Amino acid sequence: MSETFSAEARLIHAGTTREAAEPTAPPLVPASIYVSEGEPRRDRAYGREGNPGWEALEDALGGLEDAQAVAFASGQAASMALMLALARGRDRIVLPTDGYYGARVLAAKLNPHGATAVHADLQDLAAVARELKAGPSVLWAETPTNPLLRVSDLAGLAEVAAAADAPMIVDNTTATGLLQRPLDWGAAASLYSLTKAISGHSDVIAGAVVSRDAELISELRGWRTSGGGIPGPFEAWLALRGLKTLPLRIARQSDSALAIASHLAGHPRVRAVHYPGVEPSTLALAQRQMPGGFGPLLSFEVDTGRAADRVVAGSRLILPATSFGGVESTWERRARWPGETAPDGLIRLSVGVEPAADLITDIDHALNTLQEA
Ligand code: PLP
Repeated sequence: MSETFSAEARLIHAGTTREAAEPTAPPLVPASIYVSEGEPRRDRAYGREGNPGWEALEDALGGLEDAQAVAFASGQAASMALMLALARGRDRIVLPTDGYYGARVLAAKLNPHGATAVHADLQDLAAVARELKAGPSVLWAETPTNPLLRVSDLAGLAEVAAAADAPMIVDNTTATGLLQRPLDWGAAASLYSLTKAISGHSDVIAGAVVSRDAELISELRGWRTSGGGIPGPFEAWLALRGLKTLPLRIARQSDSALAIASHLAGHPRVRAVHYPGVEPSTLALAQRQMPGGFGPLLSFEVDTGRAADRVVAGSRLILPATSFGGVESTWERRARWPGETAPDGLIRLSVGVEPAADLITDIDHALNTLQEA
């Protein structure tokens, strides 16, 4: 569609044509094979190489960042393809100390294959530069991080990465391409778990990589075809359907999350609140990098792990569940997951689209159970 229109407008029309009698919703094509003889057309011969539903989703995702996208079976399948594509000739993957723990686990699994996972505090540019210069590296950035919602400086990170000749990847799952465009700050690729806010209804596992580097995109397609980490046609269809309402959902979720974080910051039972909109040390940076809002995810700390379990169990509206970005609010004590390094008493809250006042009533009720303890 014409570039005259905004990314949001193009998003709504992704996968739809203006041809008479064509469906307005993109067709769901659950085909493992296509009619094909002679020299095969690679994207329409065998279902592991192409599906019209992936292509519609990829057009929409790419359009958000003026780039191309490759969709995968999950965020982790996308990360694995990206790590494999970039680790060749580079023996170090530099990851944040406080980012998504699954990326650290995955990178560590590449150790026996010659890529060493090392960790750095992404807010410390000198430390990142040191790690990147210690050998040919990939910088695997994440901002805001899951679950501490720490914001790091994408322009600064891109600069130290370029000085070390290291490609920078940004896991942009918590913000989405609507609130933050890592490629504009110098990233080689943005990585997404589409399982979260992009699909938005807690009914899909999928992932994607978005990049302006045609060679990288083609290599990722190769890894997807050979490795088989393809999205199911129905998952791609659901992800695109969800993506079309992302602008509406994320605006409301960001407003509510900011109101809740501000409320929690003044709560006597809460030790600390983590949200880009209430963290003075990085507020100006967050406003610059995320001009449209700070997203649905926040976390806060109570005194102990036991207290956190009690709070989570005390809600009547917010569901106890993992993951984030869905229309329903969910929360969990994050340290219940082995491998997670979050403080014991940290609760990660994914703010849904329920009215903020209802959520605050529910949170206050759950925190009040601590007084009864
Ligand atoms: N990146 C982040 C920031 C995540 O939170 C997750 C999952 O929780 C992933 C990547 C992995 O995504 P998926 O669960 O779709 O494989």
